[in-house]
Amino acid sequence: MNKRDYYEVLGLSKSATKQEIKAAYRKLAKEFHPDRNKASDAEEKFKEIQEAYEILSDGSKKQAYDQYGHAGTQGFGGASGTGGFEGFGGGDFGNINDIFSQFFGADFGGFGFGGGSQKNSKTRGNNLEMTLSLEFDEAIFGTEKTVKYKREIVCRDCKGTGAEDPDKIVTCSECKGSGYVTRVSRTFIGSIQTRSVCPKCGGEGSIADQKCHNCKGSTKEQITEEFKIKVPQGVPDNITLRYTEKGNAGNKGGDYGDLYVNIEVKENEIFERSGDDIYIDQEIDVITATLGGNIKVPTVHGEVEIKIPEGTQPGRVIRLKGKGAPKFQGSGNGDEYIKLKVLVPEKLSREEKKLWEEIRDQRR
Ligand SMILES: [Zn+2]
Ligand SMILES: [Zn+2]
Repeated sequence: MNKRDYYEVLGLSKSATKQEIKAAYRKLAKEFHPDRNKASDAEEKFKEIQEAYEILSDGSKKQAYDQYGHAGTQGFGGASGTGGFEGFGGGDFGNINDIFSQFFGADFGGFGFGGGSQKNSKTRGNNLEMTLSLEFDEAIFGTEKTVKYKREIVCRDCKGTGAEDPDKIVTCSECKGSGYVTRVSRTFIGSIQTRSVCPKCGGEGSIADQKCHNCKGSTKEQITEEFKIKVPQGVPDNITLRYTEKGNAGNKGGDYGDLYVNIEVKENEIFERSGDDIYIDQEIDVITATLGGNIKVPTVHGEVEIKIPEGTQPGRVIRLKGKGAPKFQGSGNGDEYIKLKVLVPEKLSREEKKLWEEIRDQRR
């Protein structure tokens, strides 16, 4: 199979930074997510992107890849295709409004890299990641949101033993309880003996007499998780909130992974936000600009009356202290900056024109 270069898949150069790799991955994963992209090859591309990210986001795997190319990653789960994404494959990605969830396990060894040899060890569960889209106001004043996503938990029926009846655990017939199987193969240089983890019991040495009906012996089950998260006020765009142990269950009693929620804040027609500060463009007529006067301007806290000084020039910026967004961490608010645009009348009545002409003649 002709595999594309991982950097090429993510549209990056070999010198890309960790941040750039993550940003490119997020953008592409969103674009090709099978829930959103209905093109026939979207799923394939999505998997390709996942795989590239899995390797390039991991220091040691990236190093191996940089040095040896695809051959350098053979031992890792990513190189064998999408094996690590079982259970979430196909069209099974959460159909959850504008939220999308997916595996984000590349940072931790939850996939069992290196094949069966790690099956027997306790590993931490995968982290999960999703994007939460917020309205402009919700981000400013904070809100409560229910997130819904799929995750793997320890099977509730067998409590993670994988057995229908935990009391009926028998010695594995394949490895006779050793957890390993030894194979001898003859080659031209002699016979080679290889020892590997028993495929039947996964190295446990013992096995359930009858597998749990719920998890089929896998010890885990997939559920749709739903919980309320409190979004703090002033939350900035593009920030990631972390919820510990809300990811997937680990193997053999290992810890749960975490859930990462990426906050995406929608834009507003009137207000533009930069950190805690808000920017608006405000039109005033040429008479108010010339003579001064009071006008009403919108703020995220409601309308406010401000004074326009006499002789105000176009483009002048007025600062309204404390009328910006609440500070994300800390107390008080940012400021609002009002950029004034002076409107010159496009049409004048005959009388108006006369008056403007009088002013002109006065000023000569
Ligand atoms: Zn066995
Ligand atoms: Zn079970």
